Amino acid sequence: MPRNALVLAEGREKSVKRRHPWIFAGAVHHSKGKPKAGDTVEIYSHDGTWLARAAYSPASQIRARVWTFDKNEEVDADFFARRINAADQRRRPMVEREGITGYRVVAAESDGLPGITIDRYDNVLVCQLLSIGADKWRDAIVAALKARFPGCVIHERSDVEVRRKEELEPLVQTLEGELPGKVAIMENGIKLWVDLIQGHKTGYYLDQRDNRAAVLPYVEGKEVLNCFSYTGGFGTYALKGGAKHVTQVDVSESALALARDNLKLNSLDESRCDLIKEDVFALLRRYASEGRQFDVIVLDPPKFVDSKSSLKGAARGYKDINLHALKLLRPGGILLTFSCSGLMEQSLFQKIVADAALDAGRDAQILRFLSQSADHPVNVHYPEGLYLKGLVVQVS
Ligand code: SAH
Repeated sequence: MPRNALVLAEGREKSVKRRHPWIFAGAVHHSKGKPKAGDTVEIYSHDGTWLARAAYSPASQIRARVWTFDKNEEVDADFFARRINAADQRRRPMVEREGITGYRVVAAESDGLPGITIDRYDNVLVCQLLSIGADKWRDAIVAALKARFPGCVIHERSDVEVRRKEELEPLVQTLEGELPGKVAIMENGIKLWVDLIQGHKTGYYLDQRDNRAAVLPYVEGKEVLNCFSYTGGFGTYALKGGAKHVTQVDVSESALALARDNLKLNSLDESRCDLIKEDVFALLRRYASEGRQFDVIVLDPPKFVDSKSSLKGAARGYKDINLHALKLLRPGGILLTFSCSGLMEQSLFQKIVADAALDAGRDAQILRFLSQSADHPVNVHYPEGLYLKGLVVQVS
């Protein structure tokens, strides 16, 4: 039986030859056979050279996502077990040495599994299947996880709108075992609650782990403002690191409730922490008018950019919060500022922070360049895997 295939337009094999895993609709000249959504298709160049084996997504602009560039590798249940085991194996030394119980096991394209994210929170695995190809292999993925992590609960949090681009409904379901409402993870000697029902993404911002630790050298005896705190990760670290006082701000009431629980979980004195439900844009202005000042400010906003057309508006948003935060810093104060928008490049982000410093009338130095934690690797052939950028800035 000849296999289903996509034949690329002339010249469009270049990115596949460079092992980029996405094949856009415009690159496809014609298809062979009758592939259905999610089926595995062979990818050929215009001159008939075999290039890759990929998942077919007829509804999406990303028409196919490559599973393998190896002609001898079949895409079957074993394939998923191999890829998942290899991804977990790569993280083992880090996880074991650092005693981490919450980490990303599989980072989609960057681990050779496009559309598949798997996070581990203690003994709960949470997966997110974003593409029709990934969705189709759910049973194989679950079987592989059961074999690799015996006794773990397996939960699916595919409640994301991007699935509609693949004509898939957002979906939440528990696939194995009984899901607890929340679970505590350990990182860098700090315990953190993860809300498995209402939590953002798969439950937690695991990508910020190293950056939460990056706050520690600057906080002892200091007054800290943690903006966009979510469940208070940065603030919990700051209090553990000896901060005199931490103010945590978020618009989400349930996130702030968990931030309070995180203080208890780490035996921290609640009188050293204020939890404020307010819009950060408004709060920074209010504090300026009240003459409030801080020694350390963390700015970790949600993704402001989801398309190239929203980049300009996002740049204004980043500039606004950075400008107002810089104004609130005491001399010698530290700003930890982040952007998790993949479309915002490091150089542009740095320029925005420089512009903000200029307008705030503050001289500043960048002390450190930060990125996503090591369990969120970037495949060299898939630079889009790098999305989180951060700067540690000190004002004069
Ligand atoms: N720093 C956190 C993650 C932050 S995620 C950590 O390390 O875990 C971004 C947070 O910003 C979310 O919790 C969201 O509720 C909050 N948020 C979004 N817009 C906001 C706004 N305008 N003002 C305050 N909080 C906001």
